[in-house]
Amino acid sequence: MKLDILVLAVHPDDAELGCSGTIAKHIAAGKKVGIVDFTRGELGTRGTAETRDQEAADSARILGLEARENLRFKDGFFKNDEAHQREVIRVIRKYQPEIVLSNALHDRHPDHARAGDLANDASFLAGLSKIETELDGVKQEAWRPRLVLQYIQDHYIRPDIIIDITPFIDIKVASIKAFKTQFYNPDHQEAETYISSPDFFESVLGRAREYGKSIGTTFAEGFTSRKLLGVDDLFDLR
Ligand SMILES: [Zn+2]
Repeated sequence: MKLDILVLAVHPDDAELGCSGTIAKHIAAGKKVGIVDFTRGELGTRGTAETRDQEAADSARILGLEARENLRFKDGFFKNDEAHQREVIRVIRKYQPEIVLSNALHDRHPDHARAGDLANDASFLAGLSKIETELDGVKQEAWRPRLVLQYIQDHYIRPDIIIDITPFIDIKVASIKAFKTQFYNPDHQEAETYISSPDFFESVLGRAREYGKSIGTTFAEGFTSRKLLGVDDLFDLR
């Protein structure tokens, strides 16, 4: 199945926090979008791998994803090495995305930067035909996405490009709230964590408002790019 956009995320909920407004916006415009989570978030203080699986599936339905799968790497301890790169190359070649969205390249959680580097390295290597991979016993064709962008997560990062998500903020919020065990939920009795306080949720909305204000709209998401970005028409910029 070919996707237009493949979102790579180390923890189930990273894609929702970082770029679910952009995902919803492109799906509404007819694009095919999928998420590949690297781990099941099994080191998270609240919830379990099984509850995160269910929450990820619920969020996929809310967003209208074409596909969502989990590579079951080890949360906290996966490496950006050949074995892990080959697994990510396999999903990039499987879905042949034009655009990859990945974790931030520096952040509070050390998994995020490592996953962002892994996604960037695998996106490049997937285009080298001498790296051979198979899917279900069939040799895969080389494929390199034409663009890799990083969504912005916990740390403030000055974006290279900002996407207006104002009409999709409700879908973004609903997709995040699908992770019932992780975020603020007054009915939930587990220990409070960094991300389960009401303040954290407000900070996600505040970030979206801050990026939105900077381009003259209400809510937006920011992305960074390792390469320079171009547009065909100056009037596509705002
Ligand atoms: Zn994360």
